[in-house]
Order: sequence, then structure tokens, then C-alpha cells
Amino acid sequence: MELCGNIIPTPSTAKYDPDNLHRCYRLKNHTGRCKEYPYLDHMHTVAPGVRQKIIRDATKTTGASWKSSDAGPNRISRWTMLLSDDELLQLGISMSALKQWVQDKLREKAAPYEDCMAVAQKLTWLAYGMRNAPPADDWTRDYLESLFGTIPSGDTGCFVCLKPLDFELFHKARRGKAEIETGHRTPRSHTAENTGFTHRECNIAQGPLTVDEFYDWMENVLSRARPHVLNNPSSLPTK
Ligand SMILES: [Zn+2]
Ligand SMILES: [Zn+2]
Repeated sequence: MELCGNIIPTPSTAKYDPDNLHRCYRLKNHTGRCKEYPYLDHMHTVAPGVRQKIIRDATKTTGASWKSSDAGPNRISRWTMLLSDDELLQLGISMSALKQWVQDKLREKAAPYEDCMAVAQKLTWLAYGMRNAPPADDWTRDYLESLFGTIPSGDTGCFVCLKPLDFELFHKARRGKAEIETGHRTPRSHTAENTGFTHRECNIAQGPLTVDEFYDWMENVLSRARPHVLNNPSSLPTK
């Protein structure tokens, strides 16, 4: 699949972005105007909040909970965090004025523009593969499947607990926190391959560990707390 790749104008909301960064992701030789997220047009009509979440999680560093003045700029683009402290200062972002843990938190979310775009494509593919997801229109399906293969029909699961995820969970939130989160099998690696959806509680449980380290930790706990489960997996509760 060949993409247009034309440079598109920097969105007005992306105030720290250099010129000539944003690209058109429509197919080569398309008619009409260039677009960065053409494969999210259909989602925009059926679940606009999901489209927004995918773009936000793929491209931005933090959520809206960062309100205090020392928490740094809210929702900054991940690629901006690849710049040096000096370069950021020229953009009006003083990293040294932020607490160290805030700086670390922002820096660990850094990722190149192209990786963020690939993550957005992958998350869209995964979302259409959830139970009760709206079916993608033909154009969108062809686009996403040429990138990642057949959309899993209802099989997109939480990559931590491996239970299928229900698309309806996108619309649910508890105490302002979304039930579905975007997570990383290996923390800090923001690539299409490493990124997926999780239950909120599973993402919290995984914490700073890789998924494999998390399983090792659980196995270790269970070997003491529930040894019968490890010896006899059929004794696991089915729910
Ligand atoms: Zn174009
Ligand atoms: Zn889960």
C-alpha cells in the first residue's frame, strides 16, 4: 500500500511542532484534500470519542489530570519530548522548572512522529477487532488490513489478562477514569507492535514491569498463595 505522504499544514493545536512534520496518510494519488488520519473518518461517524482517544493516546504525553503549574505543559506531543532541554526552552518549555519526576514522566513518553502514526493505525485496527465493535466500512477495513492483516473479529483482548475487550467499555468511565487504557507490553517503547489496549485495572497492575515480568511476579505470588492453581490449572475460576 503506497501512501500519499504529502506534507500537511501543522494543526493549530500543535503549537510546539516544527513546520513540515505532519504527513498525509491517504493512499497515493488520492483525490480531495490530504488527511493525517483518513482511517479514522469512519470511526468519527460511529464513535467520535474513540477516534479522539486513539489520536490522543498515540500522540500525546499525558492526560488531563496534569493541572498544577509545576506539572508541565498539558498533553504535549510525544515527538516534542525528543528535543533537548535547550531546544524546548526556545519553544517556551522550561524543563528544568519542572520537578524531576515530571521531567522523567514526560521524557519516557517521547516517540518519533512516524511511530505515533503507526500506533494510531494499530489502535484503530485493534478497536475494530473488539467485541461489539461497529464494523468498519470497506475502505477503512482494506486500509487497516493491508497494514496489519485481518481484523480480529471480536478477539481483540486486553494484552495483560488476555480476556476479550468489549467496545462498549470505551464509553464507560469510573470516577472520570476510562475503563480501557492504552498500554505497552514493554513500558516506554511506543511502537505499533508494543502498544495495545488493556483494562484500566490490568494496566495499573502491570505497573512499570514488562508483561512477562508481571506474569513472573504473579506466578511467584501464586506459588505461595495458591499453589494448587499452578499444579492444577483446571481449578482456576472460569470467571
Ligand atoms: Zn495526500
Ligand atoms: Zn485485562
